[in-house]
Amino acid sequence: MRTIQPIQAKAKRLIDLGLVQKINDTDWNVTSLTGQSVYNVTYQNCGGSCTCKGFRYEGWCYHIEAVAMLQQKSVPQSVKIEEELL
Ligand SMILES: [Zn+2]
Repeated sequence: MRTIQPIQAKAKRLIDLGLVQKINDTDWNVTSLTGQSVYNVTYQNCGGSCTCKGFRYEGWCYHIEAVAMLQQKSVPQSVKIEEELL
């Protein structure tokens, strides 16, 4: 059974809430789960970038993860969201 990482759970939540908006083939606007910020995500085959702090420190974030899920059409069917993730 596939393990869902917290970052994937958060990404799935962004998708479920309709917070991921496509601008064009490579650019996306992603609203944070808090609804207080909108980040610009650029995603291509080779990888992605995001304007959030998480990306700057980690080199990856759940905003990009959400875009990657949509691009790859590999959104997990069901994800249990733990309160602590929100
Ligand atoms: Zn981000």
